[in-house]
Amino acid sequence: MTALPSQYNEMTDEQVLAAIVRAKATLGDELTILGHHYQRDEVVQFADARGDSLGLSQQAARTTARYIVFCGVYFMAETAAILCQPDQIVMQPAIEAMCPMAAMANDREASKAWSALSAVWGDDLIPITYQNSVAELKAFVGRNGGAVCTSSNADALFRWAFAQKRHILFMPDRWLGTNTALAMGIPPREIGLWDRDSTDAADLAHCRLVVWPGFCYVHSRFSVEDVKAARARYPGALIIVHPESDAAVVARSDATGSTTGIIDYVERAPAGATIVVGTEWHLVHRLGRQFTDRRVVPLRRSSCRTMEMTTIRHLLYVLDGILAGEPRNIISVDGDIATWARVALDRMLRLS
Ligand code: SF4
Repeated sequence: MTALPSQYNEMTDEQVLAAIVRAKATLGDELTILGHHYQRDEVVQFADARGDSLGLSQQAARTTARYIVFCGVYFMAETAAILCQPDQIVMQPAIEAMCPMAAMANDREASKAWSALSAVWGDDLIPITYQNSVAELKAFVGRNGGAVCTSSNADALFRWAFAQKRHILFMPDRWLGTNTALAMGIPPREIGLWDRDSTDAADLAHCRLVVWPGFCYVHSRFSVEDVKAARARYPGALIIVHPESDAAVVARSDATGSTTGIIDYVERAPAGATIVVGTEWHLVHRLGRQFTDRRVVPLRRSSCRTMEMTTIRHLLYVLDGILAGEPRNIISVDGDIATWARVALDRMLRLS
């Protein structure tokens, strides 16, 4: 991890927090800080908008602030850079915070799968990529008539795609694709898994959906054993998991929901209820402190190491750069990649 200049490590937490408050006050409307729900409490408390990746994408497209500081992971800041205006500057406090799942698919490998599947289905095929993907993959999808989706709107995007073509290639999260298709009533035998080393596209001819073999280690860590243990420990509890979880875990839970869906579910639960939540630990912990008249517990403690990379010192580092007139950790996406990725993102935003 890139080291911050020593002055930031020599400051006490109180000094850093006070300096962030001063920087925000000085920059006023010129600055907006976007914070994902999985960020540390100490960081997310400074967010002008807090949300999941869909909500923050919409916020990035809407804000008029000149400086957008994105506390999240790289694909999120990239998305903000694609959606914002040319005179706006997007920065990411911990520039090395990359989502491992986003790194599991690229446009080159996607092109190979696309060619192989097109040889079987002709042009009766459409690509969808999860927002958690690199800009080059979003651009590939945009160029080939497809769209981006998030866990909040995957169902709507799948319906949109199936209204146009009979087959979907979904990347990079196998579980979000699989769980979305199963919830729509597509039988498991019509869901195929792409493996670049061993898949013969002809063997997938009967499938409606082909999913990429990517996964989120934070959510795929939840197991059927975890669900059984939670049911034994908290009789009568409600169990909700994120759709990036294994389909077998989703099937044994009471509900599945995107990050925002999970927050809504906890909010709607009756006072006195116990809700067991299978998602990133920072959010579960925060919900537990927010809703004191019900018990919110994690299905298991599973946190995202890349989301944890952003600290208050990283945040102050980029704010100091803005104040000095030398913005730091700028994220930008240019040329054709930005153009086509925007096409894929705009298709999603129109349907959201
Ligand atoms: S929680 Fe999973 S999908 Fe989200 S940034 Fe972390 S590794 Fe990526």
